[in-house]
Order: sequence, then structure tokens, then C-alpha cells
Amino acid sequence: MKILVLNCGSSSLKYQVLEMSPNDNTLLAKGLVERIGSPNACHTHKIDGKDKYQVEKPISNHTEGIKSVLDILTDKEYGVLKDLSEIEAVGHRVAHGGEYFFKSVAVDEEVVEKIEKCCELAPLHNPANLTGIKAMAKLMPDVPQVAVFDTSFHQSMPDYAYMYALDYSYYEKYKIRRFGFHGTSHKFVAEKACKLAGLDLGKAKLITCHLGNGSSITAIEGGRSVDTSMGFTPVEGVTMGTRSGNLDVGVVTFLMEKEGLDAAGINNLVNKQSGLQGISGFSSDCRDLVDAEKSGYKRAELALAKLAYDIKKYIGAYAAVLNGVDMIVFTGGIGENSDRVRELVCTGLEYLGVDFDFAKNNGTRGVDVELSKPKSKVKVWAVTTNEELVIATDTMNIVTEMQERAAQSENN
Ligand code: AMP
Repeated sequence: MKILVLNCGSSSLKYQVLEMSPNDNTLLAKGLVERIGSPNACHTHKIDGKDKYQVEKPISNHTEGIKSVLDILTDKEYGVLKDLSEIEAVGHRVAHGGEYFFKSVAVDEEVVEKIEKCCELAPLHNPANLTGIKAMAKLMPDVPQVAVFDTSFHQSMPDYAYMYALDYSYYEKYKIRRFGFHGTSHKFVAEKACKLAGLDLGKAKLITCHLGNGSSITAIEGGRSVDTSMGFTPVEGVTMGTRSGNLDVGVVTFLMEKEGLDAAGINNLVNKQSGLQGISGFSSDCRDLVDAEKSGYKRAELALAKLAYDIKKYIGAYAAVLNGVDMIVFTGGIGENSDRVRELVCTGLEYLGVDFDFAKNNGTRGVDVELSKPKSKVKVWAVTTNEELVIATDTMNIVTEMQERAAQSENN
């Protein structure tokens, strides 16, 4: 089954086309349309064994962006489809499913209405995701669409983990609670790492660390998320590229008064000017900081130390939440690639039963690999994530079920 996976941002859209079957999958093409809404939008497209295709042209909205994608997918030179009818389903990444969605769903009018209701919770992302869904419905009305949510995996958190200790009426009135994000990635690497390490996902106690520009840590028991570090928004939790992570609310009110910042100013500060960027004063990119640390730049060293310390605190907290831990999993751009950050995090976890293989960790990047010594009580793995594959797999499963149900009711 050929599946188009779409991830629509506010002014961009990422896509992949995958050939999916229950036991196998092949990536046929992937690409990115950037600067949607501008006269010099840019469409980059890549298929295996060919130079990448890149053009700048005006693209005024997501419908035009998707049209550009569909055109290149059937292009004689760069295409991977003879005809668009080969696309059997479309899977969309949707940022926020609120309390409505515990799992991925086939898109219908009711689902669209609920995603619309969650726009208030993810004002930058959900409207863009919806634009992609609506554009696809217009361009390929007969092709089933599936929505896969960043939040749904964490809907299994118990109430005492997701509540904030605020007046309960704010939860009732605005749904102010912790939701968590990166759900597709945490679920994917938990399943993959258990398979690789020979653990039973249904019984294992796992701490998954998705570390990238945005980072979150999740406690997983029996394959279900029981707590995660991101909250009402993706700002909560550990230090990130440009996001502050946890912050005393008193700092916010202090800065509002001292610097005359309003809500937009604070939003900008904690989302765009903080984290590794804020502490180091020169970069949000982990690679730059590791290089700068080697050259003796103290604030780069401090930024990395703060990041690792935050992660370590969550690991300790989640080991307590889970009453033990069987495996710690690193993923995301930093988790998969930064031996320095993994080394900093895993130094001093012996009390927990971690016997980390520092020599093996050194220089290891971008592969699925066990980083603990064979006899370590707690296993440590680095595992590559693939959120698009989760979206394609959920889409295939849901659409296959729909097709089977339709065939059955025809037979009856
Ligand atoms: P992501 O948001 O998952 O794409 O991750 C982006 C982050 O991964 C950035 O901070 C990068 O610096 C980091 N990253 C990517 N490659 C490497 C690498 N080889 N070594 C260290 N960090 C890396």
C-alpha cells in the first residue's frame, strides 16, 4: 500500500511516500516545501539514486504546496508514481489531540471538528495540520486520511501525573493539564528497543529520552506512557535548543515587571531565546556546543552540563515513578548522535544499576546500539526514531481495517 505522509507546519510541509506492507516498508520519496505564503517558496524533493530536485517558486498556501508535491510525485524524471491513484491513503501528523484522541483515527467530519477544538491548545500547529487535511480532501476526495497525534500516546497518564496544582476550575474550563508530546517517537523507540534488547514490552519498565531541538523524557510501563516531561505546551521539562524547560513561575512575573514583557514577549523568551541558546549565548545546536566546550568556552560547558543534569534528574524521578527501570533509551538528533551528552547523563547512574560502556559510546552515532555492558542490570540503548514510519504504519492498519469492514458488509 502506497502511503503519503504529511507533516504540515505553519509555513512549511514535510512529506514522505512509503510503500507499506505488514512486514516490510520502503521509502520511495521524501521532501519539504518551505516558506509557504511567500513568492520565493522552496520545494526540495529527494528520491533514492538521483540528485535532489529543488526549485524556488511562489506558493501562496498549503493547497498549492500539496499540489506541487503531487505534481513532482508523478513527474517523469523525479516522480515515483505513474498516477496519483496509486496513493491509497494519506497519514497526517497532528500536534494536539487534547483529551479526544487516545490513538490514531480515520479522518471524518467529527474528527476535523475535534482537531479544530484543539487549535486553542496548539495555536501554531493544529491550524496548519488542519489546512493539510482540508487541502488533501479537496485534491483527492476519495482517498482515506488518517490523523496521528503527538499527544495521544500520553493519554494513558494517570490524573495525578497530568494535573497541575491549580484551581480545578481551570482544568474544567480550559483543559489546563499536562498533555505531553513526541508521543509517536516515544512509542516507536520503546517498541523497537524492546525488540532489539529482547525485553517484553508488556512487562518492561522503560525511560525513553527523545533529545533534539525539542526534548522530552517519558516513563513507560507495560507499553503505556505513565508520565512525560512536556506538559500543557512543549515548553515544560528539560532544557531544549531554544526552550527554557522548567522555570519558576515567579521568574516570569518578575521579568514581566522588570522588562515590561507582555504574554507575547514571555512566550518569545521561553520558546525562542532560552535553553542551550540562552545559556551559551551563541548557539542552540548541540554540535556547536560540544565543539565550543572542547575549545574551553565555559558557557557552552555550562549549557551542556545543565542539559545533562536535567535529563539525569528526570531519569531518577521516573525510576521512582516506575519503581525501578529495565532500560533507558536515547533517541532524537542529540540522543542518537551526541556521545558527549549521553556520557554526561550516564555518568553517576551506577546506584540505579547502570553499567555504562563509555568506550563503546565514544564516537557512536546514528545507529541502533546497546551502550551498557552485557551484565548491566539496567540496559542503555541508543535507537534511531522514525516518526513518519509510525504515521504510515498506523495509517496502513486503520485503512486496511476499514477496507476489510467495507468488504465484509458488501458480502453480507
Ligand atoms: P532533532 O530536533 O531531533 O533534529 O535534533 C536536532 C539536534 O540534534 C541539534 O541540537 C543537533 O546539534 C543535534 N545533533 C545532530 N547531529 C549531531 C551530532 N552528530 N552530534 C551531536 N549532536 C547532533
